[in-house]
Amino acid sequence: MVSQGPEESALRWRVRQLQRGGMNIWKIWKVIVARRFDLVVIGGGSGGLAHAQRAAEYGASAAVVESGPLGGTCVNVGCVPKKVMWYAAHHAHAIRGASDFGFTVAAEGHDWSELKARRDAYISRLNDIYERNLDNRKVTLLRGTGQLVSDTRVNAGGEQLEAERIVIATGGQPIVPAIPGAELGITSDGFFELPERPARVALVGSGYVAVELAGVFAALGSETTVLVRKGGVLRSFDEMLRDSLHGAMKSEGIRLETRVVPRALERRDNGLVLLAEDGREFGSYDCVVWAIGREPNVAALQLDAAGVASDKYGFIPVDDYQATNVDNVFALGDVTGREALTPVAIAAGRRLADRLYGGMADRHLEYHTIPTVIFSHPPIGTVGFRESDAREKYGDDVTVYQSTFNPMLYALGEHKTPTSMKLITVGAEEKIVGCHVIGEGADEMLQGFAVAIRMGARKKDFDDTVAIHPTSAEEFVTMR
Ligand code: FAD
Ligand code: NDP
Repeated sequence: MVSQGPEESALRWRVRQLQRGGMNIWKIWKVIVARRFDLVVIGGGSGGLAHAQRAAEYGASAAVVESGPLGGTCVNVGCVPKKVMWYAAHHAHAIRGASDFGFTVAAEGHDWSELKARRDAYISRLNDIYERNLDNRKVTLLRGTGQLVSDTRVNAGGEQLEAERIVIATGGQPIVPAIPGAELGITSDGFFELPERPARVALVGSGYVAVELAGVFAALGSETTVLVRKGGVLRSFDEMLRDSLHGAMKSEGIRLETRVVPRALERRDNGLVLLAEDGREFGSYDCVVWAIGREPNVAALQLDAAGVASDKYGFIPVDDYQATNVDNVFALGDVTGREALTPVAIAAGRRLADRLYGGMADRHLEYHTIPTVIFSHPPIGTVGFRESDAREKYGDDVTVYQSTFNPMLYALGEHKTPTSMKLITVGAEEKIVGCHVIGEGADEMLQGFAVAIRMGARKKDFDDTVAIHPTSAEEFVTMR
């Protein structure tokens, strides 16, 4: 008889235990025997998918572990369904302005549930496309929650995966304040589940989500209030953008209540009432949306098992090369707490793959001069320093060019939403270090200017570029 070593008898004991627990032999195999990959990515959102696919294109064997619908926040409860809603609001504005051009049209109602059904169907098509994309590149998709077992092993919903490298791309989730009654409110995730448009809405917060969703609700007919805890919205953005947006929100009928620090949310006979720290009460509302930022998805990861460090908010710090404190474990996207934007997660993911599998030794994402658009009404495009930061950094070397005008879109009507633009330059050669615009078309305007600024454009380069007429964008090359 062949004698058993301690490891073998431990294994037999474990198998018997699992069998007693009712597990079939195939499942036991998966739990005990690890599948091997070059790369395991936890999180099938913007960054995780981009990384796994690029790595697979270079020939790496890659697996993605995803606990929810494929595509992550952006596709399912972020950019994509949000932009659909933004377009709906955009149509509402266009209908309102159409009579200025001789049309006899009026928005005779709007069917929110029809819009939601169409939007959901679109997202579902995208989910399928994302799955096919993985398939086409031979990336293995494992449905389930990913958990670190060690710095080379991941438990993917019960299945063991062994990997040379692990990438954490688990994104984030909306923060719900720890105050009584908070559960009566919803977050941006809940916004996308709303079956009908609430008549009276409050958005609590002052960032991207609050202003974007406020614009949608207001344009589609809800009585909309934004409750901010300080002096206004978008505090970290250029002063001109904030002031212009405040004006535009007001003219759209959006109420802005400042210095409102939430203490509790209560349901009363007439709806939801928000109680502020200073004793004021706001409401009643049919829906309250918490839009106060996002926290990283790390709770399920068991970071300690691999020795991966996180900061006091739970974000995973990484160096310029997306490396964590553990050699073969990397992190990218929202979970790192840096520039929580889809193209940033994608760029970080692709560049990491270029470096690790594509032979580009120094390839990495530089996190400065990242352009961003806020899909408010009107939209905002911004890249580089805001004026106050530029003045703090460069002092008297700063020269600012600014312009405010009514775009031709509003030439024939009474209702006008002005456009404001600003260029911030530094030094005698007037290198452009900040470019900001709020107004119709700003969302589509900024990308090209961002390329120029990244390449080191000076004001003179803008001046020497022939304008495209008649557009709003031409103002950027004609400012004096
Ligand atoms: P995510 O896309 O969030 O993907 C993370 C994935 O990991 C998720 O699918 C999640 O289910 C999965 N996961 C988490 N934990 C585990 C686990 N333990 N095991 C397995 N899977 C796990 N950005 C823009 O650039 N433009 C916009 O217009 C824009 N609009 C937005 C609108 C809203 C309402 C919100 C909330 C965000 C918006 N963003 C926008 C931000 C953008 O969505 C995020 O920056 C982007 O999705 C981050 O990508 P990521 O890969 O880091 O994470
Ligand atoms: P943001 O970080 O943009 O803004 C949240 C703001 O809410 C804070 O800046 C803070 O502003 C305020 N706030 C924080 N805590 C509280 C509190 N307890 N009570 C009241 N107010 C509070 O978060 P969002 O949720 O709007 O968006 C999250 C991120 O998602 C964004 O930063 C962005 O990176 C991304 N995103 C990108 C979009 C795009 O690209 N178009 C669209 C949507 C999201 P203050 O200090 O002034 O009070």
